Amino acid sequence: MDRQQTQAVPKTADDELEQRGAAPTAAQGAAESGESGRRQAFAAALLALFARKATPTEYLDALVDAIRQWTCCQSLGIRLMTEDQDIPYETWAGFEPGFLELEGRLSVRHDKCLCIRAITQAFEESDRDLLTPGGSLRSDDAIGFVKGLAPEKLASYRGNCMRFGFASLAIIPIRCGQDIIGVIHLADRRPGLFTPAMVEFMESMTPLIGEAIHRFQTEAELADHRDRLQVLVRERTRELEAANARLRIEIAERRQAQESLQRTAEDLARSNRDLEQFAYVASHDLQEPLRAVAGYATLLRRRFSEKLDAKGLEYIEGAVEGARRMERLITDLLAFSRVGTRGGAFVETDIHGPLREALRNLEAAVEAVQAEVRIAPLPTLVVDATQIVQLFQNLIGNAIKFHGQSPPEIFVEARRQEGRWVFSVRDNGIGIEPQYFERIFQIFQRLHTRKQYPGTGIGLAICKKIVERHGGEIWVQSQPGQGSTFCFSIPQASATNQ
Ligand code: ADP
Repeated sequence: MDRQQTQAVPKTADDELEQRGAAPTAAQGAAESGESGRRQAFAAALLALFARKATPTEYLDALVDAIRQWTCCQSLGIRLMTEDQDIPYETWAGFEPGFLELEGRLSVRHDKCLCIRAITQAFEESDRDLLTPGGSLRSDDAIGFVKGLAPEKLASYRGNCMRFGFASLAIIPIRCGQDIIGVIHLADRRPGLFTPAMVEFMESMTPLIGEAIHRFQTEAELADHRDRLQVLVRERTRELEAANARLRIEIAERRQAQESLQRTAEDLARSNRDLEQFAYVASHDLQEPLRAVAGYATLLRRRFSEKLDAKGLEYIEGAVEGARRMERLITDLLAFSRVGTRGGAFVETDIHGPLREALRNLEAAVEAVQAEVRIAPLPTLVVDATQIVQLFQNLIGNAIKFHGQSPPEIFVEARRQEGRWVFSVRDNGIGIEPQYFERIFQIFQRLHTRKQYPGTGIGLAICKKIVERHGGEIWVQSQPGQGSTFCFSIPQASATNQ
């Protein structure tokens, strides 16, 4: 499409020739000064275009306008070489569609023509008559030139300009730095329109034009990159926002879950406290009537023994024994409920101290079965010492109680393990079946009858509570008949777990 068809076409050729002083006249001086003014105006227009902000197409269209205004030529176009070395007209004015169709297919790679040689600067011998010192090709009579060519030379000239009747021709390379990036193609049916001076002046302007084309193309590429970058940034931002929204939902859900977990934990802790309190109060208050029952049963036996028969005495004995057992149960239950509610302060303690006190309390039992207790070096830790006494007493007491055929051998030691101390109380007693490893730590859970081994089934439950109050764990390793090892851990900084 002829984008510039609406542009003003030049006046008559004679007018033009006269104006730019191509034909010597009496008014030559005035015409020359007119010409220099027009050149200045052209140069100023090119500079103004250079300074303007535009797309490459806007610049090239404006450039064609400016050149046309200055040269007053009928047809012109700007050809720029593509990456594939084609040289399409980027913009043009006054060329007919048929001409553009023929010329538009030209490629530097495989065609021969003046425009191509102006770009490659590899001229034919026959081009010499057209070549300017600045590397342009110029003809006042292109039709005559082609007609005058020897037949073997004709192949180097496609002859399209001649075919479309362009007598005046000027092909000026557009330079950008060291490179030639295209040509300005001027054509006019009137002969002698493009003077050597005009072409020379155009040549002097092409570095500015080349620079401008390069700049506008680079800016367009940059703008394109920027646009793509902005699209990318927008996409990423959207993705990020979506991810953020998902994250916020997730965080809210987690917070809810955590809050509900915390509420459950608090409820559980409260209900545990209530239960402990209840057990404490109940067992404490039960002691009083129980003592009364035991007291009256004892009185009955003392005062009325001669009045009762053997059966009556047996019943009273049963009542006294039952009351005694219940008293033990209540005492143990009270001790159990006291672990949480009536615990003492956490103090830096050499663990040998509580262990020795536990052994003193167990002296009679130790002697009764000739138990041997060995103790490895123990650490100093921040603990509730009274509870540690009770802990060792229960564990060593059990090791003595549940001994096998041979006299009990008990070994107590402690090993350091990743921020905690693991204590162990090992015996050579009857051992425990693995399926009971969990159960024995529950309150009132026993594996034997009272006749086989006395006890209330609270000792290990108390041990567990004490260890947990210190922020640790308790477990057992055992094989029936192979002895048992009760282990418990206490964190290095147990004071924080009060
Ligand atoms: P109790 O000693 O009053 O029965 P515990 O809570 O101390 O209650 O112990 C629960 C049960 O665990 C005991 O009845 C016994 O079966 C088993 N047990 C505890 N310690 C040992 C041990 N050292 N060797 C073998 N069995 C043990």
